[in-house]
Amino acid sequence: QAKAQGRNRYSFFEPAIGARLKEEMELFSALRTAVKQGAFTLHYQPVIALQPGLPTYAEALLRWPQGGQHASPGVFIPFAENHGLIDAIGDFVLDNACDFVARQRDNGQPQTISINLSAKQLAQGNLPARLAARLADSGISPACIELELTESTLIQDLAAIGGTLQQLRDEGFRIAIDDFGAGYSSLNYLLELPVDKVKIDQRFIGGLGDNPRNQAVVAAILELARAIGVQTVAEGVETAAQLAFLRAHGCHYVQGYYFARPMPEADYLAFQLPAA
Ligand code: C2E
Ligand code: MG
Ligand code: MG
Ligand code: MG
Repeated sequence: QAKAQGRNRYSFFEPAIGARLKEEMELFSALRTAVKQGAFTLHYQPVIALQPGLPTYAEALLRWPQGGQHASPGVFIPFAENHGLIDAIGDFVLDNACDFVARQRDNGQPQTISINLSAKQLAQGNLPARLAARLADSGISPACIELELTESTLIQDLAAIGGTLQQLRDEGFRIAIDDFGAGYSSLNYLLELPVDKVKIDQRFIGGLGDNPRNQAVVAAILELARAIGVQTVAEGVETAAQLAFLRAHGCHYVQGYYFARPMPEADYLAFQLPAA
């Protein structure tokens, strides 16, 4: 009986595992080729200031046009992190984001940009040197760059990452915690990491129009951030009601489809903010 079950289990799982491995190997090889060819592009989504004196800026979001069903960074970034490709992809993002800032500067349009960094990239050690070299090349000030720390896996060595972030912040980069509230230990990050900004995860924003629980949680996050002198960004703002709530509760920035989707560079440059 047990043996028969075992054999059944085997014959049931084996093809599934084989198919998954094959799919992963194909994805790996496609992604590695894309990395070699630089077959990615950046889209830009405005992050809109709600308070006077704060600059509206852009978040750079990576796209893989030939990636088919894997084209979303929510899919291929975690895969790249787990298969040794994230540093090369991170270099592409950094290069292209700096080129964008430099082009805009040369056009007389000073531009601040925020870039997503996975904790794996930060843990890797020579990131500050790579950043410094790239910025020196194009004569860009760290003040133009914000680094969004994304937590896709539990951060193993918080002290090491904190040290690196502190160094980057001392050099003039701004540091944001992405997807705040959704991760493993968001509150702990506020204690342990040098942070300028938190980006409140979009799952909290969705219910703001009508759900009192969402409203209470977001109000509390905004209050907490204010108490410790950290700026706030609400991600995934899609409705006027969400915007009204965030504005009334002193959120510093909003970002979402209500204003604009992530766009290719030309569209981003042509984008006109609707009157606030
Ligand atoms: P994220 O950094 O939290 O970016 C926000 C995501 O929400 C983006 O998805 C954006 O397109 C989407 N979004 C923006 N406004 C709205 C809205 O109003 N409604 C909804 N439903 N979605 C909205 P995207 O571009 O697919 O990126 C997914 C994630 O992939 C990012 O989340 C980030 O964690 C990661 N990622 C993207 N680009 C990079 C990168 O260059 N490097 C690294 N390490 N990770 C990246
Ligand atoms: Mg982000
Ligand atoms: Mg986010
Ligand atoms: Mg994210």
